[in-house]
Amino acid sequence: MDERRAQVTEDQVRAALAEVVDPDHGKDIVSLGLVQGLVLRDGNVGFTIEVEAERGPALEGLRKEAEERVMTLPGVVSVTAVLTAERSADAPKTQAPGPGPGRPGPEPGGAPERPALLPGVKHIIAVASAKGGVGKSTVAVNLALALAAEGHQTGILDADIYGPSLPRMLGISDRPQSADGKVMQPLTNYGIKAMSIGFLVDENTAMIWRGPMVMGALEQMMRDVIWGNLDVLVVDMPPGTGDAQLTMAQRVPLAGAVIVSTPQDIALLDVRRGLAMFEKVNVPVLGIIENMSTFVCPHCGEESHIFGHGGAKECAKDLGVPFLGEIPLDMVIRETSDAGTPVVALHPGSDHEERFRAIARAVWDGAEATKAGRAGPKIVMD
Ligand code: ADP
Repeated sequence: MDERRAQVTEDQVRAALAEVVDPDHGKDIVSLGLVQGLVLRDGNVGFTIEVEAERGPALEGLRKEAEERVMTLPGVVSVTAVLTAERSADAPKTQAPGPGPGRPGPEPGGAPERPALLPGVKHIIAVASAKGGVGKSTVAVNLALALAAEGHQTGILDADIYGPSLPRMLGISDRPQSADGKVMQPLTNYGIKAMSIGFLVDENTAMIWRGPMVMGALEQMMRDVIWGNLDVLVVDMPPGTGDAQLTMAQRVPLAGAVIVSTPQDIALLDVRRGLAMFEKVNVPVLGIIENMSTFVCPHCGEESHIFGHGGAKECAKDLGVPFLGEIPLDMVIRETSDAGTPVVALHPGSDHEERFRAIARAVWDGAEATKAGRAGPKIVMD
């Protein structure tokens, strides 16, 4: 908005931080790889300085110095540096990789880098929604199947730790096998690899997760599962756009995100909240999918527009993100996904399948374009 102010760049911030010397190592905090999760937004700068827990209390001066150095840069409005104790004393202190060709997603936006998660996966795509019940999981599963039908090696990770629905939707009741007790094989159905906390615990077991446990479970499902080489991994995110989702979006090395919404929610602020969340962590939004758009009468097949129609396209245009397509509200979709036989798998050649495949092509093209550094989707917030 403020055109008088020159925008500070990530390079300038890193250069300023390269002046800050870690007293215990005699080297600067950038080359030691301590600076993580750098986020820039309208002159507001945030980052973490990852240090060993035991050094934390002694490094308040270092944190302050880092803030002050960045604050002197032209165009900087505010600086927030946080000391985190993520690093264990014996962890390798390497410089985090930049947003290289394989990982356009999270680096500038905030993922604390450890050994790369999911190194064999080309594109990791989040499917998110601002609230539950909009059909996010249904769309995620069918999108994954459609990507597979388009010829891509596909996996799906159910990151909805609180309400895992993948076992039911993919009709999988087996438990993952582990030969060595350390790493697990994902389960497979309809040609896609799948992992869900629901494979490990009963879907109906009430679970109370605390934040760190959620992150632990999610990381385990990325690190300790033999995903192998995949073209694309679809991540079914938990609903909502709160802190938990934000942390997850930071932790998973995402290439892009897809937001599922119903027509009535699109008119509300929900979609904007979803966009804002991914913007915060510099994950490109590949587009919006409108689910339950038109109602298809199970008796006569006639379509009616219960919640209005065409609003999503308009809204996407307003927000400056691609509109990826619409999925009707149809009993067949509910019955098939609830029966563990998703519509894309059960009815190849149907209108529903073709819609999901068209969305899959758009999502794939968006991810490829982002990776190639071509004009990625722009998010315009007002
Ligand atoms: P979320 O993941 O957003 O909570 P789900 O995917 O679990 O939502 O969907 C909620 C319910 O709505 C499920 O019973 C599902 O079968 C149904 N549903 C989702 N999308 C459609 C659709 N397009 N037509 C009919 N039913 C749908």
